[in-house]
Amino acid sequence: MALNIHPDDSKLDPTVSCSNCEAVCCRLTVVLDASDQISDELVVHGANGVDVMAHAADGWCIALDRTTMGCSIYAQRPRVCRRFAMGGGYCRLERQKFSDARIPLRVA
Ligand code: SF4
Repeated sequence: MALNIHPDDSKLDPTVSCSNCEAVCCRLTVVLDASDQISDELVVHGANGVDVMAHAADGWCIALDRTTMGCSIYAQRPRVCRRFAMGGGYCRLERQKFSDARIPLRVA
């Protein structure tokens, strides 16, 4: 995720909340840094030396709880996830793209 770089991130939409979202940000690529302490089974080690959170076949991050659509490693979630601006420009853009693509909202 490229976070806090969207020009509209300073304008948060107060109607957006993680509690009423389908965790669309958890479909983005999460690049890990040296400070992240993530279990190795959740990580893909790229041939280019870049580590990212693994995704399941449904497109969501492997650490996402499919029942609650919340992060199952919230207390230890990657730094880039902590910086994502809920209701910010990037969040709103991804929600719009998700909606436009009519991706099924819940995993069966
Ligand atoms: S680590 Fe948690 S917050 Fe980050 S993308 Fe995965 S499920 Fe979402």
